[in-house]
Amino acid sequence: MRAAILAVGTELLSTDRLDTNSLRLTSVLERHGVALRHKAVVGDEEAEIAAALAEAARRAELVLVSGGLGPTADDVTREACARWLGRPLEEDPALWAAIERRFASLGRTPAGNNRRQAMVVAGATVLHNPRGTAPGQRVEADGVTVFLFPGVPFELETLVELHLVPWLAERSGGRGRERRTVRVAMRPESDVDRELEPAYAEFGRETITVLSSPGEVKVRLTVEGAEEERLVRLDQMAGRVRELLGEAVYGEGEELVLEQVVGGLLAARGLTVATAESCTGGLLAERLTRVPGSSRYFPGGVVAYADAQKVSLLGVPAPELAEHGAVSEEVARALAEGVRRRLGTDFGLGVTGVAGPEGGSDEKPVGTVHVALAGPSGVRHRRLRLPGDRVRVRWQATQAALEMLRLALGEATPEGRP
Ligand code: ATP
Ligand code: MG
Repeated sequence: MRAAILAVGTELLSTDRLDTNSLRLTSVLERHGVALRHKAVVGDEEAEIAAALAEAARRAELVLVSGGLGPTADDVTREACARWLGRPLEEDPALWAAIERRFASLGRTPAGNNRRQAMVVAGATVLHNPRGTAPGQRVEADGVTVFLFPGVPFELETLVELHLVPWLAERSGGRGRERRTVRVAMRPESDVDRELEPAYAEFGRETITVLSSPGEVKVRLTVEGAEEERLVRLDQMAGRVRELLGEAVYGEGEELVLEQVVGGLLAARGLTVATAESCTGGLLAERLTRVPGSSRYFPGGVVAYADAQKVSLLGVPAPELAEHGAVSEEVARALAEGVRRRLGTDFGLGVTGVAGPEGGSDEKPVGTVHVALAGPSGVRHRRLRLPGDRVRVRWQATQAALEMLRLALGEATPEGRP
């Protein structure tokens, strides 16, 4: 089965709003192994929508439409669908009664234009919408099935779960597609790719995709087949990938972030960390505190941007600053040790670097960053040359600091202190 998606809404053609509904629909299609062949965005215009429907129906057997089912005059998806099929719109008495009841429960009476929401394309099945007044519709026409969904994202999601998922499940016979994402921080994409070669050979090149973004590589695993088969296979693949990449893997999941993993490790081990930041200006502390419950392991951090503050707030020795400059191994180490001492934590993280676009030199070009971690067993340090603009350099610097701490925590025993 081939599918097409049509997003209706003039606002989606402007810079005001992004069409996210089609992504939601796409993920449901993927889960059920249905290939998306065509996707389009059209404004709230009856003739445009009718033409887009005709085009989508030429390319696919399943057409999913979102938006334009509201009560206002600019919501014309119903009319466009009827026009395309050459069928009339008919009022559904049960639907009208339901709309009246819904308004009554809110102590209101429906306006005249709400009547339009009770109009159904002749022959369509009404898809109950428990979260809004606009029901969805399913229309069969010449071997093509068309679903009309409301545009409000949470209403669309509800209708998709209630009406589209069961419909797809019935047709796919339990077959579908499942995904899992294995996450790696601060490793070059090419290294990860090379290390994964045995897995490509075992599971097929097309089932493993390596996606890179600043400071991060996602290894996406995709399997198709019957449900239990899929899960077993995904477990096998993820296990093999973890084996090949070793400690570089920090977790699994599309939504997972490194600060969450680091926070979980600190909390589990009863350890604390403080931060001393120069070039990242507090971004590292911001990321750590984004995680709920971070007060258990993060008492605070210091943004010491000027040299004088590095000295007075964190006790960085002035002669070190004068001799090596603020962007140096010595100063990174002194920042990490200073903040660990002053805040009395188990770990201290220090970050100093040249974020750019100005301030680079031959010796210390833009993107030069020193990260240091002071802990119970001493201080470790990394010098990095990070690619990209200011935003990327700063982000990757925090990623490198978090990763350094994660690896150190991995060495610590879960029961006690390192
Ligand atoms: P309603 O009954 O609520 O009027 P509707 O089907 O008419 O539903 P629209 O009026 O088209 O829906 O859109 C309602 C809201 O949902 C708007 O804020 C719109 O920007 C948003 N929306 C519509 N389509 C999309 C989309 N494809 N992706 C994300 N948001 C969308
Ligand atoms: Mg609209």
